[in-house]
Amino acid sequence: MLSHLECARCGREHDADAVQNLCHECASPLLARYDLTRVARPTTENSLWRYRDVLPVRDPDPAFSLGEGMTPLVPLPALSRALDATVLMKDESLIPTGSFKARGAAVGVARAKELGIEGIKMPTNGNAGAAWALYAARAGIRSVIAMPEDAPLITREEVEASGAELRIVPGTIADAGKAIADVDLFDASTLREPYRIEGKKTMGYEIVEQLGWRVPDVIVYPTGGGVGLIGIHKALLEMRELGWISGDLPRLVAVQSTGCAPIVRAFEAGEAESAFWHDAYTSAFGINVPKPLGDFIILRAIRETGGTALAVTDEQIAADRAECARLEGVFLCPEGAATISAVRALREDGWLSADDEVVVLNTGAGIKYPTVRL
Ligand SMILES: *Cc1c(COP(=O)(O)O)cnc(C)c1O
Ligand SMILES: [Zn+2]
Repeated sequence: MLSHLECARCGREHDADAVQNLCHECASPLLARYDLTRVARPTTENSLWRYRDVLPVRDPDPAFSLGEGMTPLVPLPALSRALDATVLMKDESLIPTGSFKARGAAVGVARAKELGIEGIKMPTNGNAGAAWALYAARAGIRSVIAMPEDAPLITREEVEASGAELRIVPGTIADAGKAIADVDLFDASTLREPYRIEGKKTMGYEIVEQLGWRVPDVIVYPTGGGVGLIGIHKALLEMRELGWISGDLPRLVAVQSTGCAPIVRAFEAGEAESAFWHDAYTSAFGINVPKPLGDFIILRAIRETGGTALAVTDEQIAADRAECARLEGVFLCPEGAATISAVRALREDGWLSADDEVVVLNTGAGIKYPTVRL
C-alpha cells in the first residue's frame, strides 16, 4: 500500500494523497514508497495490475485497463548464437499504443484521475504523448501534448485522434517543454510526476516473475529519460525487501545513441549528473533526451549494480534491426535494436561473457517507425 512520496535526492517525505510534482525542498523527482509489510503475491490478472499492492492507485478500476503489461519474455536463440551471448527479449511491442509508454500512462493517468486532476500536459518525443493522450481520453480527462516536429508522424496522429490538443515545436523535447510551460494543467512530464515510473517498474516485476522468481545477470535498457531503468531498479530493490528475490541484482546497462549520449558521457567521466547534450539527434527518437531530469538516479542505479553505459551509432542500430528481423523474425523498434548493438559491443570487448543471461528491452513496435530506414 502506498504510504508516502520520498525525494530521490534529499529524502524529504511528501504527502502522497496530495497532487505533487517535484520535491518542495530541492526540485528533484519524488519516488513512491509503500508499506511493504502489507504486500500480497501478484494476482492472476494478465496485466500489470497483477502487482496492485506495489502500485500507487488505491482503488484501480478494472474497466479502465486496456490490458497493458505481462508482455512476453522471448528467447532469441539464433541471434544469441550469432553474438555468442545468451539473450532474452522483453517484448513491449505487444502493448496498447505500441510502446511501453502505455505502462507509465495507464498507472499515471489512473492515479491522476483518482487525485481529481482534470487535465495533464507534457512534452514528448512521440510515444509518451500518444500513450498519455489515449489513456487520458479513456479516463475522460483533458491533455495538451507538445512534440518536436521530427517526432514520428504516427504518434502525432495518435495524439490528434485522441482529441488532445497537440503543439508541434521546432527543436528537441527540451524545446517542446518550454512551449507549454505556461499551460495551466498538471505537468505530467518525465519524472515531474511521481507515478509514471510506478507503471514502468512493472517491467522489472514481470521479468523476475517470468524467470520463475530469479534475476538475470544483466538488463540492457535504451535510455532516454531513464524512467524504465530507474523503475526496474526500484522494482528489484522492492522485491529484495519483500524477500521475493535474494543475492546480487542484475547489472543494469544504459544504452544511448552516439548522437545523444549525456548519460554515457557522465558515466565515463565519473560525474554524478549529466550535462546538456547540444545538437542531439538520433533516429531512435525515444532516446533523444539531451538532459534527463533523473540523470543522477540513472547513474546511481548503473553504478550500484555494477552496470555500465555505452553509446551505439544509428548505423549499427539499423544494421542490428535488420539482423534481428532476418535471424529471429522480430522487427524491433530502433530503440530496441540499440540494445542488441550494445550486447554486440559489450560481448566483443569482454564486458559480457557468453553465459551471462542478458535481458534486453524492445520498448516498442518496429511498425511504429515506417519512415526510419534500415
Ligand atoms: C521513451 C522511449 C524510450 C526511453 O524511455 P525512458 O524510460 O524515458 O528512458 C525507449 N524506447 C522507446 C520506444 C520509447 O518510446
Ligand atoms: Zn528533495
